[in-house]
Amino acid sequence: MRKVEENLAKINDEINQQREKSNISTQPSVIAVTKYVTIERAKEAYQAGLRHFGENRLEGFKEKKEALPSDAVFHFIGSLQSRKVKDVINEVDYFHALDRMSLAKEINKRANHTISCFLQVNVSGESSKHGIDLDDVNSFIEDLKQYENIKIVGLMTMAPFTDDVEYIQSLFRKLRIKRDEIQKLNLEYAPCTELSMGMSNDYLIAIEEGATFVRIGTKLVGEEE
Ligand SMILES: *Cc1c(COP(=O)(O)O)cnc(C)c1O
Repeated sequence: MRKVEENLAKINDEINQQREKSNISTQPSVIAVTKYVTIERAKEAYQAGLRHFGENRLEGFKEKKEALPSDAVFHFIGSLQSRKVKDVINEVDYFHALDRMSLAKEINKRANHTISCFLQVNVSGESSKHGIDLDDVNSFIEDLKQYENIKIVGLMTMAPFTDDVEYIQSLFRKLRIKRDEIQKLNLEYAPCTELSMGMSNDYLIAIEEGATFVRIGTKLVGEEE
């Protein structure tokens, strides 16, 4: 078996064990984060059966999208400068890093169709992290109503780097509770059914808390060779 295929088999086993153990019926989608690796490695990931791909820079995004078959689904997972929105926003399937109103305004202006976005939330409140505060999510979503080209499909977060499993779990749980709350509002422009959380170090915790998308780079496709 090739490397990515091997990693994916192991990750899928772990995910299914975790789902069984925690009684989770959701089958999360694995996003292969290919930002560290070559086009060849991304193609290997496609051949292993992966169809969701995550990139955080314009250049990497464009080259991977060009190289992969058209049924690959592309997630832009990095923070995006407003001036670069026009170069990328109509090409992405999902944008995971909506974190400010000025960016929403620019996306709305440049979009030629409805863009599926995740709100990036800074659940821990650490100032080093991107994302809006958990307490500001409701009013932010309310303000987005004016932007007809933006659809909020879910919430996204990055947990801080720590071994404290309970702490990470508490953050993911808060995001899930917020997702449930927004979903219940039944807003047409913000169905908010999805939860994008969990990376190489914490995806099993995220799955236990109901992640619908996990974003895995290092453990799945490796780091730069
Ligand atoms: C790089 C990155 C990932 C993947 O990180 P790994 O720890 O390598 O799995 C996931 N999400 C975001 C937003 C990233 O920037």
